[in-house]
Amino acid sequence: MKRSQHGPTWCVLCKADSESSEHIFLRCSSTLNLWKNLKPFINYVGDWAGTDIINAWTVWEMHNRGLKTINLPIIVNWAIWKTRNNVIFDNKPIQWPLLEASIVAALKELPDPPPPPSRQPTPPPTIDTGTPWAFFNGAANQQSCGGGIILHISENHLYKIKAGLGTGTNNFAELITLRHLLHFALRHHCTSINIFGDSQIIINWINGTTTCHMHSLSIILHEAQTLKSAFNNISISHIYRVHNKGADQLSKEAALMDRGTWEITEVIDQQEHKYYHRPYIDPGYPTLGQHIDY
Ligand SMILES: [Zn+2]
Repeated sequence: MKRSQHGPTWCVLCKADSESSEHIFLRCSSTLNLWKNLKPFINYVGDWAGTDIINAWTVWEMHNRGLKTINLPIIVNWAIWKTRNNVIFDNKPIQWPLLEASIVAALKELPDPPPPPSRQPTPPPTIDTGTPWAFFNGAANQQSCGGGIILHISENHLYKIKAGLGTGTNNFAELITLRHLLHFALRHHCTSINIFGDSQIIINWINGTTTCHMHSLSIILHEAQTLKSAFNNISISHIYRVHNKGADQLSKEAALMDRGTWEITEVIDQQEHKYYHRPYIDPGYPTLGQHIDY
């Protein structure tokens, strides 16, 4: 193989073979020996080996995923390349033990990779099916937002609600959806209810744990708190998003609907009745139908 004027054709590490990147990083006996000598100091998994460098990388990443050693081939290959250049351009002798020590030290310097996400599932909320219960979610994208509600009146009677909310932020969508839920539940004669949502901010606001300082939202919040106080018994609790998938899905679909449009599906004994689908103007909410800017 012909090579440039920048270096000799022979591998300067083993002086026994012609140099190619595949040779120098993967096949060279000196490189393989270096890897072998690192083993007692660095507990890497699997060998740096493969049909070519890409393949070696793939196999290495598979074995060392989540471990600090995932970056070891970068350190080793960089060290080998530097050593090779030092020999060629500066005629420096190779000091293998020093090289090995520098690789061990460089790896130690690297921060530990973040731990893998916990596989411990978060527990779902405990539902008291003797009392009406509901899930809500607000979804916002750049164009529009929507609200999704699942209200269980009893174990075999529920409502699935989608509401097109126009433009607004995620907090707006969450809060107005909660407000709609409270209103809807009261109109369907729920005097007690347990409500679940995945927005910690809105849950904290409605429960008075934190204060809402945004004027436009505080108007809606005040309405929601007034509605909340009309229930005999009410709890509004935070759940993780993974346990709010039903309302989440409805809210995403609702975000595609026109502002002020509702789609309400009543389910009795698993029979669905889509009985209400029209532009909905709520006289109790004067800002509906207007653009709300925040
Ligand atoms: Zn070699």
